[in-house]
Amino acid sequence: MHRLSKLVIASHNKGKVREIGELLSPLGVETRSVAELGLPKPDETETIFSGNARIKALAAAKATGWPALSDDSGLAVDALDGAPGVCAADWAEIPKSEGGGRDFNMAMWHVNRLMGESPGPDTARFICALCLAWPDGATKVYEGRVEGHIVWPPRGDKGFGYDPIFCALGDDKTFAEIDPKEKHAKSHRADAFVKFLNDQFPNV
Ligand code: IMP
Repeated sequence: MHRLSKLVIASHNKGKVREIGELLSPLGVETRSVAELGLPKPDETETIFSGNARIKALAAAKATGWPALSDDSGLAVDALDGAPGVCAADWAEIPKSEGGGRDFNMAMWHVNRLMGESPGPDTARFICALCLAWPDGATKVYEGRVEGHIVWPPRGDKGFGYDPIFCALGDDKTFAEIDPKEKHAKSHRADAFVKFLNDQFPNV
């Protein structure tokens, strides 16, 4: 099988780029991120994780001529019928009129407020679709998830995004309280990553 020796990480999210870089580091793969290369963010117009992952990976592979690995992921809360789901990043978006950028404290407060308005189970999951795309347009998608529940108030300062309000099944610490190595052993991204590794690096 053709071994991947270089990869563009097709994400502008620093937390994801860091975690994907850490997961790839034992493999000796040369990596660049789309932000480092100054590539623009494509519009994520799909309603499912795999569709948006394909858009991001294909845009990066075509722009660079390198294979590209993207990650589309989010938090699905059962009491909110799976929201924020693919809109997880949008819930953190600060309007341009107020300076722009992302505020995940605001997004977590929004989750908590909506859960208070529609009482139900506190169960939730993180879902991740990794897409590997080649410059010729071929793609492969690997999906992963981690089941857990939402806690309030937010706890911990590690990780990123919604990590401070998510505990994996059987854990009493949030993803923002555990060591990154522990998160990498059980997260939705790790679950998808194992499938990617088994497919692309079967002997590692
Ligand atoms: P997108 O895939 O770039 O649209 O963004 C997904 C959003 O989901 C991120 O900005 C985070 O808010 C959230 N998310 C995805 N993975 C994680 C994770 O591992 N921890 C916390 N939040 C995450």
